[in-house]
Amino acid sequence: MISFHFIWQPRMAAALASSLSLLRTSRLALPYATRCNAFSHLSLGSLAASFAPLRPQRFVRHITASSNEEAAAKNAVDTSGPTIFDKIIAKEIPSDIVYEDDNVLAFRDINPQAPVHILIIPKLRDGLTQLSKAEARHCEILGQLLYASKIVAEKEGIAEGFRVVINNGPDACQSVYHLHLHVIGGRQLKWPPG
Ligand code: 5GP
Repeated sequence: MISFHFIWQPRMAAALASSLSLLRTSRLALPYATRCNAFSHLSLGSLAASFAPLRPQRFVRHITASSNEEAAAKNAVDTSGPTIFDKIIAKEIPSDIVYEDDNVLAFRDINPQAPVHILIIPKLRDGLTQLSKAEARHCEILGQLLYASKIVAEKEGIAEGFRVVINNGPDACQSVYHLHLHVIGGRQLKWPPG
């Protein structure tokens, strides 16, 4: 009698997860409109979670976080309606505020992608659901947001090296339609970004 034993090796798990990850992010494999979201039904988050005993935590967190971001962006639409940030500005829901003045609010991202990950937003959205909606009248607040990112970087002790990111629209995986700057740092950042 022939018996067949299949032993699931950590290296096999890594190869499968990494192939799916590559496929999911490949710009060549997918048509333009579906690049961001096409493989969300594969639930890479749960796949990665099932490998948790075999893989380093950081790897699992990376897949899960990027999967969550893309899923959130897929469901987000620029309706010009209120967003979760309105509740944060109104202090109706808690946030870890690191800087505030009359015009801008800076608070820690709930799903940090680096040791320091701060969001900076205008308190008054004034049509700025995304950067591509900016008009000449927004120049002052745009400058204030950028300047606030420098203040925040200094307060957080990362002024020697940090990144400011604005995700604009679905292709950039924007999930909250209230203009915001991500200030990211506290570790060696890679380039190009994903
Ligand atoms: P986007 O993907 O639109 O560029 O970034 C939106 C960011 O808002 C994400 O990084 C997400 O983690 C963060 N975020 C979403 N909801 C909340 C929340 O309720 N509190 C905080 N602090 N951050 C949030």
